[in-house]
Amino acid sequence: MSISNALLQKYAALIVRTGANVQKGQVVQLTVSVEQHAFAAMVMEECYKAGAKKVNVDWTYDIQSRLNYLYADQETLSAVLPWEEAKLKQMTEDLPCRIYIVSEDPDALKEVDPEKLSAVTQSRGRVIKPYRNAIEGRHQWVIAAYPSAAWAKKCFPALEEEAAVDRLWDAILKTVRVSEDTDPVAAWKAHTDFIEEKAAWLNAQGFTRLSYKSANGTDFSVELIPKARWEGAGAVNSQNGAFYIPNMPTEEIFTSPAAGKCEGTLVAVKPLSWNSQLIEDFAITFEKGRAVSCRAARGQTLLEKMIHMDEGAAMLGEVALVPKESPVNQCGFLFYETLFDENACCHCALGMGFKEVLPGGDDLTMEEARQRGINDSIIHVDFMVGADDLSIDGIKADGTVVPVFRNGTWA
Ligand code: ZN
Repeated sequence: MSISNALLQKYAALIVRTGANVQKGQVVQLTVSVEQHAFAAMVMEECYKAGAKKVNVDWTYDIQSRLNYLYADQETLSAVLPWEEAKLKQMTEDLPCRIYIVSEDPDALKEVDPEKLSAVTQSRGRVIKPYRNAIEGRHQWVIAAYPSAAWAKKCFPALEEEAAVDRLWDAILKTVRVSEDTDPVAAWKAHTDFIEEKAAWLNAQGFTRLSYKSANGTDFSVELIPKARWEGAGAVNSQNGAFYIPNMPTEEIFTSPAAGKCEGTLVAVKPLSWNSQLIEDFAITFEKGRAVSCRAARGQTLLEKMIHMDEGAAMLGEVALVPKESPVNQCGFLFYETLFDENACCHCALGMGFKEVLPGGDDLTMEEARQRGINDSIIHVDFMVGADDLSIDGIKADGTVVPVFRNGTWA
């Protein structure tokens, strides 16, 4: 493999220091594949150097997940056992810094019955969600990637394994602004400053509604929640004030729109990978804020299943603005991984919204957030609508129309 140890070290440090921003005395929960054990060790050491009190590792393994899904029955897989729940409860007390290194084979669960997969996700989600809600906004976390051979081969099926991994490394490092001769910390500072400046502009505009149009058939309007904030790049842990970057890469500025208040059709511009399967060439039509119909050239049943996962799955939880110049888009291929694909261009997400965009949102219960317009669901699935000709207008309470995006980028 052509990536140098020095470069890996730089990347590990960036994840720990700039991404998770591990503070002295914090517990760290690292989730990483056994295949990436050498990199896991680098990340662990970096956490301790940053002052971590303890680093706990949750090892994952694609083949373990696949075999469990293939052979264990649905009821067994759906159960969240008392020890797992105790662990989740412990997390709400420790509020650990969570670091996820994604490297999964997008096809790992391809042979699994999608019915079974979504049923298990659904019932486990119901038990896990209250714990997730309890730590939201109160801990630091980051998701970053490390290319596995299987993932790289999925992106570049025509290349030999080693060449495919190299290509994926190149792309990942480009999108996270890490290279031999640059200072990634400075690059991230400039990047997050730019995003925050745009977010501040959007917040100052106080739009009540956004209107989307593209020649591909997108014709859509969505209401925003009064005083809900546009956010991007970084977040602050309300418990200790630490600034962290939840996603590396990140290019988006997002907010949660008013649940149940949108009309029209959104046409996807990229395939969507959900539960290890692809939904391609699709569009979703909304009435009174709910997805009432959808069509997909491939994956129609899957898309319908997704929209019916629960009450909130048919409503939007996120709208995000990403200019088409995004380095992820420049890479020009599908990563089969939301962390990257959602940073390619403008997107919306069905399902769970973000209560932290509301003023004082971190301290609201999900019920209170829901009453103020934030959508609630066990799913959160991003789909890309950022066509090259996409235009987005912001509409103010007095009817003033302000161009926000023209031809897929900032107006
Ligand atoms: Zn997003």
